[in-house]
Amino acid sequence: MNAEGETMTPETDAVDLTDLGRMLRQRHDDTAEQLRGLREQTGSVLAGESGSGDAADVGTLAVESSEQAALAAALAEQLARLRAAVARLDAGTFGVCERCGKQVPPVRLQVMPWVTHCVPCQSAAEKRR
Ligand SMILES: [Zn+2]
Repeated sequence: MNAEGETMTPETDAVDLTDLGRMLRQRHDDTAEQLRGLREQTGSVLAGESGSGDAADVGTLAVESSEQAALAAALAEQLARLRAAVARLDAGTFGVCERCGKQVPPVRLQVMPWVTHCVPCQSAAEKRR
């Protein structure tokens, strides 16, 4: 099957989102993997809690698991953002500002692929907070 546009270059001012999309999916998968690993660790820590008779050990484990839980929550939040961005990618609206409909600068998308607004709209939204 010949994929159309493989050798063709679109308009020069059109942003090539292929690389960004690939990067986004990679980042999504990495984050998902990281979160899974962390949850496995946290799960085993919690499961082992009752097995230890040493109160000091239990305390250390509790601190570790709450730190891991906080980290897991942060990762889960980022994963949700990345997942939403992947969904926009599939829908063909990735990189389009949800407020003004303009193309979000690719530089911005490279740093934060989950952004849904261009810089002016984002700062306008932040000022209102
Ligand atoms: Zn905008």
